[in-house]
This record gives sequence, C-alpha cells and structure tokens, in this order.
Amino acid sequence: MTTIQKFEDVLSVETEELVTLNAAENVIVMVDEAHRTQYGLLAAKMRKALPNAAFIGFTGTPIDKVFRSTVRQFGGLIDSYTIPESVADKSTVPILYEARLPELSILGPNTLDKLFDKMFAHEPEHIKQRIKRRYATKEMLAEAESRIEMIADDISDHFNRYVKPNGYKAQVVAPSRRTALKYAQYVNDFGISAYPIITTSNEDGPEFNVAKALNERGFEVTLDILGEHVDSRQEAGEVTAAYVDLYRRIAACGARANISLKPTHLGLDLGRELCLENLLQVVSAGRESGNFLRIDMEDSAITDDTLALYSDCREFYDRVGPVLQAYLHRSSDDLALILSTRLNVRLCKGIYRERPEIAHQRPSAINDNFMALARQALEGGAYVALATHDRPLIARLEQLIRDLRLPPERFEFQVLYGVPMGGKLQELQSRGFKVRIYVPFGEAWYDYSKRRLKENPDIAGYVLSNLFKKE
Ligand SMILES: Cc1cc2nc3c(=O)[nH]c(=O)nc-3n(C[C@H](O)[C@H](O)[C@H](O)COP(=O)(O)OP(=O)(O)OC[C@H]3O[C@@H](n4cnc5c(N)ncnc54)[C@H](O)[C@@H]3O)c2cc1C
Repeated sequence: MTTIQKFEDVLSVETEELVTLNAAENVIVMVDEAHRTQYGLLAAKMRKALPNAAFIGFTGTPIDKVFRSTVRQFGGLIDSYTIPESVADKSTVPILYEARLPELSILGPNTLDKLFDKMFAHEPEHIKQRIKRRYATKEMLAEAESRIEMIADDISDHFNRYVKPNGYKAQVVAPSRRTALKYAQYVNDFGISAYPIITTSNEDGPEFNVAKALNERGFEVTLDILGEHVDSRQEAGEVTAAYVDLYRRIAACGARANISLKPTHLGLDLGRELCLENLLQVVSAGRESGNFLRIDMEDSAITDDTLALYSDCREFYDRVGPVLQAYLHRSSDDLALILSTRLNVRLCKGIYRERPEIAHQRPSAINDNFMALARQALEGGAYVALATHDRPLIARLEQLIRDLRLPPERFEFQVLYGVPMGGKLQELQSRGFKVRIYVPFGEAWYDYSKRRLKENPDIAGYVLSNLFKKE
C-alpha cells in the first residue's frame, strides 16, 4: 500500500532522471479513488517507476472529460456495481437520523459552564479552575475522558432500549481518531459490539510533508502557524487550539519538530492574562508530548511582556525558550537576568524597525552584538540557537565555537525554510552540528507577508519571494 505522492521523488540523485523502481510484470497496482490524481506528473512518474505493472482503478465517481477520463486512463471497465444495484441488494441501507440531546451535549458558553459543574462537581475549586483552563475549548471538552464515558453510557442505554429491539444498527460520529477509539472502547465495556471505522482527510497536512522531508535530510524542524495580532478573544482561542492540536499531530506523525509562536497571535494585545492563559494551554500540550516551545520575540513595545510570559511558562515547564534580538541595546542585560545552564535561548538579529535610541542600526554593530551575546550565553552554560542566514556571521560563530571548545550538544544553527544557503547547511551538518529549519505555514501567510512589508519594506522582497520556495 502506498500513496501517489511517494512517487514525487523518483529521481536519480546523480542524473536527475526518472528511476524504474520495479519492472516486474506481475505487479498489480490497485488505485483507490481512481478518478483523482491519475492524469498529471505524479501519475506519469508512478507509471514510469512501475513500467510493466497492471493498473486497476476503483472509483465511485468516474469522470469523462477531454483531458481526464477514468475509463480512458485505465483502459476500459472491468466491472461495475451501481448505487441502485447496491440498494436492491441491501448493501446500501438508509440512515435514519434521530435527534437526541444527551444532557452532556455542548450548546454554548453557558452550557459549557454547567457541564463543568456537573462533571467536576466533586473536585475542589482550585482543581476545577485548572481543569477549566485546560479544557477551555469546546473540542477539548468534547474529548475529555469522563465526558466520553458518560456519553458512551448514555448511548449504550439508548441503543439497547430503542435501537436494537427494532433490528437497527447505529453509528457514532466522533471529532477525532482518539475520541472514536475511546467511544468504541467504552461502548464495548457497556456490552455492545462496536468497531471503530476511522476516516481521516489528510490529517497530517502539507506542513508535515515538508517537515518529514527535511527530517529525512537530517534537519530538525520548527513549525510556526503564521499570524500575529489577533483582534478577538475568540480568534486567540482558535489559534491556541490550533497550536495544542499541532503538538498532538507532531506526536502522532512522529516528525522531529517543535513549535515556535508569537505572543500577539495568542492575544497579547488583548491583555497579558489572556495571553498567559492561552500560552499555558499550549505549554501543557507540549509537556504532554515532552516537546519544546519557543516564544518568538516581537517588537520592542512588548519585549518586557514577552520575557515575563516566558518566565511564567518556565515555572510550569522546563522546555520553553525565549528569543533575544542582537539589535536591541538591552539584550545583554535581559540575557544576564535569565542566564543559567537550563536556559535554551535563540539569538537573532531582530526583524522589526526600531528607534536608534534603543537599537543598533549599523549591520556591523548588530553583528558584533550578536557575537557578544552568543559568547555571553555560551560561556554562561546556556543552550544557544544561532538563527541567522548571514554566512560571514556564521563563520565567526563557528570560530567562537572552536575557541570555546564547545561540543555540538550545546548549540544549533537555525534558518528560515526557503532561504538559499548555497550548501552551507550541509557543511554545518557534516561537522556534526545540528541545523534546524523554521517552517511557517497556514492560511495567514499572505497577511503576515503584507504586515512585514509595512513594518520594514527592506525585507519585503525576501519574505514575499522566498518564504515558501524550496532551497
Ligand atoms: C529561525 C529564525 C527565527 C527568527 N526568529 C525571530 C524572532 O523571534 N524575532 C525577530 O525579531 N526576528 C527573528 N528572526 C529574523 C532575524 O531577526 C533576522 O531579521 C533575519 O533572519 C534576517 O537576518 P539574518 O541574520 O539572516 O542576516 P541578514 O544580513 O539580514 O541576511 C543575510 C543574508 O541572508 C539572506 N536572507 C536573510 N533573510 C532572508 C529571507 N527571509 N529570505 C531570503 N533571504 C534572506 C539574504 O541574502 C541576506 O543577504 C528569525 C530568523 C530565523 C532564521
């Protein structure tokens, strides 16, 4: 079993020519959903990789257009089984929908609160508050363990009394794979045979294809959902849920990736308390999977808040790290305050336009401060992520690493996905150094690029043209 996307890279490394993977004549390829993806480059590559295989298509919706015809592509119909036939055979049966509202369903903010009170009545107030923070979204609460058990009990009872005696079967639809498995388990415990049928729609997402491909080339990855400065609590909550989910998806697909996020994306403009609440939810999801969280540094108006948020999160979980910007005069003092052997800090030049009173403007001054901060952090025992594409600066950093005789476990290099580095990254890897690639993704990327353009027109060219290009 495979997917057509896996044939994307069937090129010889040396000649860049398409490679034959298996020329045997007794290979049979059964193509599911054969009306899709069978007419383009990927299909051509697959057929070239398996030149003598027999391709048999299966589809519920054959298409017949000028350039795309399922029948033409696969060489005629072998057999068909139509919906009217399956209805006549009773393989297809009607689904009867029954509106039923167990007391535990979630309708809106009020019922959400009532639900909490009902489910967690026995817990002391401070525990209730903690649970509330953790399950602050509908989806999370929908997946809470005891709620699933209660609903499964209710479903089993209803099924045994009203559905089964009439000779019917039943289906339960769940919001995620994990929840579906839980429902099946509990309903079974209540004496009903249930089988989970899991259907997912590309749950990994394209960002994971990029992350996994980079992992395969030996790179570590940081994922970032593009966006910043949300306008409402609701939006901040949605972004928070997306980050929580991202940790789960990283763990589920096994990519070597951590997360980086911007405080204003989690609602810092709407208040530090709100942002901290959201941030702690993301941090606890990171803690659950033992993963790391980087808190990006934004403009100087929120440097204090961002460092305070970082400290609050660190009390809760060790594997959280801040970013310091070399263009800011204050960064050395900030570093001194947080420096310890348990610090994991990213150093970068800084991307916002800042006033000369608070920030170096000359590139050479910024680079010198970058070097001074790197030395200060490394000598102080911190783990340091050196985020820059500036090759002369990278050469200076390599010299510093040699001078301090640092082992590769003490630092890593970081670059943005898509910025051409002319073989430098492979060179760093060949020295045994860790290289991490920062991959921003998500629908907000266009807004993000536009905002960057307004903030600092000098970098617009990079961001717009290179953010999503491959190296
Ligand atoms: C992993 C990572 C995380 C970052 N996190 C933050 C953060 O939290 N806060 C913050 O303020 N800034 C952050 N930055 C941005 C950083 O501060 C710089 O503004 C940015 O990296 C450009 O500076 P440079 O060090 O690459 O050097 P530059 O001297 O600006 O660039 C060196 C060369 O790299 C190329 N280059 C640089 N950036 C790009 C690009 N985007 N596209 C194409 N080519 C490029 C150019 O050819 C340029 O000549 C981050 C950068 C990276 C790589």
